[in-house]
Amino acid sequence: MSRSSPRSSYNEVLSMLKTHNQWFANSIPLIASENVTSPAVREATISDFANRYAEGWPGERVYAGCIYIDEVEFKCMELAKKLFKAEFVDVRPISGVVANLAIYSAFSNPGDTMMAPSIPSGGHISHGKKEHAGTAGLVHGLDIEFYPFDAEEMTIDVDKTKEKVKELEKAGKIPKLAMFGGSVFLFPHPVKELADFLKSYNMFVNYDGAHVAGLIAGGQFQDPLREGADAMTMSTHKTLFGPQGGMVCSFEKYGESIKKATFPGMTSNHHLHHMAGKAIAYAEMLEFGKKYAVQVIKNAKALAEALNSSGFTVLGEKRGFTKSHQIVVNVLSFGDGGTIEADLEKANIIVNRQLIPGDIKAGRNYFHPGGMRLGVAELTRLGMKESNMKQVAEFIKKVVIDKKDKKKIALEVKKFRKDFQKVRYCFESKHGGYDYIKIR
Ligand SMILES: *Cc1c(COP(=O)(O)O)cnc(C)c1O
Repeated sequence: MSRSSPRSSYNEVLSMLKTHNQWFANSIPLIASENVTSPAVREATISDFANRYAEGWPGERVYAGCIYIDEVEFKCMELAKKLFKAEFVDVRPISGVVANLAIYSAFSNPGDTMMAPSIPSGGHISHGKKEHAGTAGLVHGLDIEFYPFDAEEMTIDVDKTKEKVKELEKAGKIPKLAMFGGSVFLFPHPVKELADFLKSYNMFVNYDGAHVAGLIAGGQFQDPLREGADAMTMSTHKTLFGPQGGMVCSFEKYGESIKKATFPGMTSNHHLHHMAGKAIAYAEMLEFGKKYAVQVIKNAKALAEALNSSGFTVLGEKRGFTKSHQIVVNVLSFGDGGTIEADLEKANIIVNRQLIPGDIKAGRNYFHPGGMRLGVAELTRLGMKESNMKQVAEFIKKVVIDKKDKKKIALEVKKFRKDFQKVRYCFESKHGGYDYIKIR
């Protein structure tokens, strides 16, 4: 048991927060699901909205005190609709997983089946089976059938999916839901190619844009709602500029069901400070999103090419490595993903280990998988361009291939980061993205 006094624990926590900020200010953050927010979004998240309740729909709340909260939420919805060209939006889901759960609850029942990508082929744990403690299976009782995946093309196999659905029909197991999108997401999914087919079996087609929402908003990825998806769920903080949160975009005809699933189904309070942060992020995205998304994809390609030519095996080579913010590297020639992730962290390079196609069959697991995943959303938000991606690749090579001294590289990384402290693609940027702001 710890002997520390409340006051010393209090000081310790605050001091760790500050140290964390300083560490990230001196690091190369490459986690594909992360980004850094503008000072304006950070301001929203420490406002008094953080302490309030506003259950229900704006204008129909169950508490008083919501005058300004309602105005902000109406504005947030208006901006979201414009950004994603959506008839209906629900900005209340508090995370991407909660947005997915709202869709499961609104459009399926426990015991129904959902088609989704498996985890080694990019699926997210919220699409997963009960035996893997996946949200869809564990929380909503869905059975999951995986899409056939083409590991060379790194996307869902259209013809084999059609065959599989026909087999499921024969077995009396037609899925109720079809889920596109994933966490390893290099190339657009075949929504256009499959939506009509899936809908002819009465499936509700959802697109999980958690990772790529900012690229979609910037018009640089696919456009699921125009390609046949009935709804799109997302996280608001990966390639989008928001604080952590979720959202559903859909069509008017599904609005009532989604509304009820979000509240009272999935949320009571919906974290109003983050809702306000989303509104600010959507305004930033409307203004700067296109330029940002274009640069993100250029940077991802540049990093993939640089890594590939320095001796790494980058997946998706046949299709030019990536069309998103992500890169997936097979690291088996140099160790396993787990060890490499830890080595890079010591050099202030933050990545995540990643299951890749073939890992499960080869007996590798999540702790020691064959790959690592990199994302350039955050580095791009800090203003980095293609030439900087070459420097990033060089740092990674020095650690993983050349096995250079990690402490020394951490110092080089710190120096490299000096010029990239402010958040770009936003209206105002007085404070650096990682400045620790003390208000005590
Ligand atoms: C990250 C992710 C989510 C979960 O998002 P949270 O906002 O962390 O709950 C859902 N789906 C996919 C595909 C993801 O990558």
